Amino acid sequence: MTERTQNLIEPKAGLPRGAALLRDPLLNKGAAFTKAERLALGLEGLLPPKVFTIEQQAARAMENYRRKQDDLERYIHLMSLHDRNETLYYRLVIDNLEEMTPIIYTPIVGQACQQFGHLFRRARGVYISLDDRGRMTEVLRNHTHEDVRVIVVTDGERILGLGDQGVGGMGIPIGKLSLYTACAGVPPGRCLPVTLDVGTENVERLQDPLYMGICQHRLRGEEYDGFVAEFITAAREVWPKVLIQFEDFANVNAFRLLEQWRDRICTFNDDIQGTAAVALAGLCSALKITKKPLRDQRILFLGAGEAGVGIADLIVSAMVDEGAEIEDARRRCWFVDSKGLVVKSRQGLAEHKLRYAHDVLYAPDLSSAVHALEPTALVGVSTIARAFDKEIVETMARLNERPIIFALSNPTSKAECSAEEAYTWSRGKAIYASGSPFPPFTYLGKTFVSGQGNNSYIFPGLGLGIVACEARRVTDRMFAEAAKALAAQVLQNDLDMGRVYPSLRRIREVSAHIGAAVAEVAFRDGLAGVERPADVLEFVKSKMWEPRYASYLW
Ligand code: NAD
Repeated sequence: MTERTQNLIEPKAGLPRGAALLRDPLLNKGAAFTKAERLALGLEGLLPPKVFTIEQQAARAMENYRRKQDDLERYIHLMSLHDRNETLYYRLVIDNLEEMTPIIYTPIVGQACQQFGHLFRRARGVYISLDDRGRMTEVLRNHTHEDVRVIVVTDGERILGLGDQGVGGMGIPIGKLSLYTACAGVPPGRCLPVTLDVGTENVERLQDPLYMGICQHRLRGEEYDGFVAEFITAAREVWPKVLIQFEDFANVNAFRLLEQWRDRICTFNDDIQGTAAVALAGLCSALKITKKPLRDQRILFLGAGEAGVGIADLIVSAMVDEGAEIEDARRRCWFVDSKGLVVKSRQGLAEHKLRYAHDVLYAPDLSSAVHALEPTALVGVSTIARAFDKEIVETMARLNERPIIFALSNPTSKAECSAEEAYTWSRGKAIYASGSPFPPFTYLGKTFVSGQGNNSYIFPGLGLGIVACEARRVTDRMFAEAAKALAAQVLQNDLDMGRVYPSLRRIREVSAHIGAAVAEVAFRDGLAGVERPADVLEFVKSKMWEPRYASYLW
């Protein structure tokens, strides 16, 4: 026996060795494997000799990141790192969250979805296609993570504002799960992105020889619902505690699937419910400024899609919690869609709009609706740029001492009005938030830093809370409490500069509080799978994964 092998320290059980270890992104440390680990795990000769710290590796990765010429190249660089070494990827993303979130998620991930077949390098997650019907359990078992706790699933039909991207939609679950881990410490080994490939109506994709999905029209109707049901049943059979988050499904399916499954399994739809909680939190913060109760607000929405109706539903449920009757609460939420004010006399309204179709005179457009209803808050979720024009903002400022104006449509080019417009036209009175970030703006000597109603304030913390207490359902009360917890994290300093959300720099702390609020609801309502700990916040924090290298030797 040589001196070298005599000194060998035992590697931990079950670890792969050599090249297989370097190829496993959850375990790989690259040049940070110590000399002893290299010896014990068959890595000698497979890495350059010098051992690096994670900080040194991050500096190298950042140097390469900076060298990239455009954002899509930066996305590819980060995804390649993600696929090589997840610990280092998360170290880098967490340390540069504000800069990298727009790269790994919206808006740049949208380009990546559109060009999926051209950029593809290495598969991640699970793809379930029409050919897998009848054998989805088997397909899911091919995935190697043993204890998956969060699945983000899409069918690719309504990717951000970019429509049907078919199988290319996979970029979204991957990006979203990165934020679960980066913003709230949900362990990466517990996360699984899934794409259901049920075809596409996108002609450009269908004609692209490099498109990677099934080339046929989308499955619809009962067959589609059966396909989704088989996936859900299979996922729960393989991972019984899993939370399934629906993401970027089109309106035609999103509302129905949510209604079908929300009381049967642990699931939610972030486009509908996550958005709602973020908007409600912004509204609660704004009300700290106006000092008016929620149940006295009159809220006019422009756009009656997933975001708008989801927000209204949660506001109604929060008003009911404050003691309002449900019908009265609904009458405080109004919608203008592409055909004008949603009223009872309109024919052929989609199912999800009916509960907000009130019995009043029809108004043909937003301006006339604002004059007729005199709202305290305007919420833009219409994807129509500049829809909140000077006349509308001025009217809101005349009707209200501090008008609440949320222009939530993404990307920036689609915002209903910019921060600058809201502050200038309202003469600094507006309490403004947007879906995409706007730079600080100085008006009459005061600098306003507007808030961004980013869904990543809510869903990662919510997921953390659900995973920590092993909740069996995701309820409206959890979203309402998550919204309140987020609003509680807004500091006076934030409000003073006009910001109704906390700084993203504090996101992990904020997420821990949201997780604790969600877990509290689960414990209170008998939905948790574990015993209530004495200190729920500390318990939730103890479940947060940190990007640090573990030692692989005993
Ligand atoms: P959606 O497609 O479900 O709904 C859009 C709605 O706008 C539809 O009801 C449509 O009829 C309506 N609309 C279209 N043209 C209109 C017009 N001229 N006037 C009035 N209404 C019109 O989309 P969604 O998921 O509800 O998202 C809407 C917007 O909100 C998107 O830009 C999205 O990026 C944004 N959003 C922001 C956040 C956030 O800030 N956190 C979250 C989710 C969605």
